[in-house]
Amino acid sequence: MEYRLQRSSRKTLAVCVSEGEIIVKAPNRMSIAHIEQFLADKALWIAKKVSEYNAKTAALAPVTNGTSALYHGMLLPIVPTTTAKACINGNVLYLPVKYDTQEKRDRAIANLYKKLAQSELADRLYKISASTRLSYSGFALTNARTQWGNCDGKCSIRLNWRLVMLDDEIVTYVIVHELCHTAFHDHSSQFWALVGRIMPNYKAVKKRLKSFSVLTTMYR
Ligand SMILES: [Zn+2]
Repeated sequence: MEYRLQRSSRKTLAVCVSEGEIIVKAPNRMSIAHIEQFLADKALWIAKKVSEYNAKTAALAPVTNGTSALYHGMLLPIVPTTTAKACINGNVLYLPVKYDTQEKRDRAIANLYKKLAQSELADRLYKISASTRLSYSGFALTNARTQWGNCDGKCSIRLNWRLVMLDDEIVTYVIVHELCHTAFHDHSSQFWALVGRIMPNYKAVKKRLKSFSVLTTMYR
C-alpha cells in the first residue's frame, strides 16, 4: 500500500488516514520491515478508513466539482440564468451566466449563502437560545476554515455561513454546542452533559457533521 512516512524523534509507531491519505509516523531509526509489518497488521482498519473517505467524497462530489449546490441538506442543481442575481427557487440554484469562471461562480454562491445565513442563522440562534435559556451577547458570521462555530469568553457566538448548506438537525447541534459554551468554556464532561440534556441524540449528529467537514474549505 502507498503511504507517507513521517519520521521524528517519537518513540512509537502510529498510522492515521487523513483526507484519504495513509500517514505513518515512525521513530527515526525504525526499520522499513518493522513499519510494513505494522501496516500489514492494521490493513483491515486502514482499508475501512480509506473506503469511508472515498464514500464521503463521492457523495459530495457534485458539490465540490461545482455542478450542484447544497442547501438545507438538499442537493440542488445549478442552472444558468440571464437574470442579474443568483437565487434559490423551487429547489434549484439559479446562477447568472455573466459569472463565466468557476471563481466568479463560487463568489456569487458564497455571497448568496452569506446573505441567507445572516438572517437564517440569527433567527435559529435566537429561538434556540430562548428555548434553552442559554443567552449570548452577540452574533456574527465567520468564514473559518475548520470550525463551524465558536463562542468567545464574552459569550459572543460566531457561526460559519456555510451552515446554510446543512440540514436543520446539524445546524441545531452546532448552535446548541456553542450556546452550551456560554455556560462552560471548555469541552469538559459537564459541558457534554449539558449538550446531551438539550439534544439527547447529539453524538450521532456530531458524527454526521464530521462527514461534511470538506465543506468548510469550499467557496474560498
Ligand atoms: Zn466547542
